[in-house]
Amino acid sequence: MEAAVAIENGISSGELIKIPPQPDEVDTDGYAAREGRLLARWALFRERNPSLRRRKIAEASRLGRRIQCEVCSFHFADLYGPIGQDYIEVHHVQPLHISGPRETLLRDLAFVCANCHRMCHRTYLGSTWRTPDTLRSMMAGHPRLPCNAV
Ligand SMILES: [Zn+2]
Ligand SMILES: [Zn+2]
Repeated sequence: MEAAVAIENGISSGELIKIPPQPDEVDTDGYAAREGRLLARWALFRERNPSLRRRKIAEASRLGRRIQCEVCSFHFADLYGPIGQDYIEVHHVQPLHISGPRETLLRDLAFVCANCHRMCHRTYLGSTWRTPDTLRSMMAGHPRLPCNAV
């Protein structure tokens, strides 16, 4: 269990292998760090079924719903044009790391933009996951949130 938590933390932080900075990696004139070496890493990740995202989008299209972020109402095609058409990320409303292996229904998924998705998963006050509703309530009153601008 401890190992699983350490690996999960490593995956989310991108630091599975902690290597102290080497003297030649840091430039003393301003800050610079060497990057770009090819590194190998192994990771455990939870099984995801890509057909769920496709079916969730197909269902929304069939029901005439806009494919937009359920937190901030961002719509990729509105900003990016055709390349953003039907693009959206999906977030598990009940996290797989709590539920464990299970059957996922379309209603267990929420559409989120890339920014809101990151904020749903960002470690904050000891929590590493939040629902779109919780994230939206944390943003409530924020004047730049499109759904607050009426
Ligand atoms: Zn969003
Ligand atoms: Zn997610």
